[in-house]
Amino acid sequence: MSTISPTHHSIVWLVGAGPGDPDLLTIKALRLMQLADVVIYDRLVSDDIMALIPAETQKIYVGKARSEHSVPQGGINQLLIDEACSGKKVLRLKGGDPFIFGRGGEEIEELAAANIPFEVVPGITAASGCAAYAGIPLTHRDYAQSVRFITGHLKNHEVNLHWPELMDPTQTLVFYMGLIGLQAICEQLIAHGRDPQTPVALIEKGTTRQQRVVIATLATINERVHAENVTAPTLTIIGDVVTLHEKLQWR
Ligand code: SAH
Repeated sequence: MSTISPTHHSIVWLVGAGPGDPDLLTIKALRLMQLADVVIYDRLVSDDIMALIPAETQKIYVGKARSEHSVPQGGINQLLIDEACSGKKVLRLKGGDPFIFGRGGEEIEELAAANIPFEVVPGITAASGCAAYAGIPLTHRDYAQSVRFITGHLKNHEVNLHWPELMDPTQTLVFYMGLIGLQAICEQLIAHGRDPQTPVALIEKGTTRQQRVVIATLATINERVHAENVTAPTLTIIGDVVTLHEKLQWR
């Protein structure tokens, strides 16, 4: 913990930047991007969005790619505290929504403990952005009455989830961070009883100009994704709503 105390100017804005398309920023996010003294940002914040921050504003990249451990989480938390205590208006800019798989909660817990004022600005999460830009409604009266956001992150080379809870065919499943574990996820869903023909959409770099959508089934998606050379970030949507893509894709 820093020994410096916050000044009366200190503030940290924890801001969601949305999934990539700068037009999906909130007005509040854009306004704070003009006001901040320093912006601390992740890999997931697109270049088009970074280009909207004034050139003279200090920008600190703290990475977050799975393999290149740029700045460990504890280091990011401390950096936020140190920058705020030096009297700066600090903008912590994160991809999507800061409270959905973004560790935003952990970052402001430390600020709260250090008595540093903060505000949280929601962003459009990848599930909403990718679904909209792929023409796949996450719920639909005819297909899905609920939707579940799940982390597909591997722990010790395994995806540890409570699979029996994911069997309801009227619940759309959305996997974040699920590219590496895709095969394991599909195998487990089938092994626990999901129909291998269940439609699956994998959306690569959703909402950006490079967006690609790969459509297949639980049985075939992994093979398709390898054949298409898909790279992160990707989001996986599983369920009958995916069939609507053919009719509703608009991009
Ligand atoms: N807080 C973020 C999620 C952070 S976890 C949010 O609310 O969106 C990082 C994961 O988000 C990635 O592994 C990927 O699954 C997903 N993701 C983020 N941006 C994406 C995009 N533009 N296209 C596809 N997936 C994306």
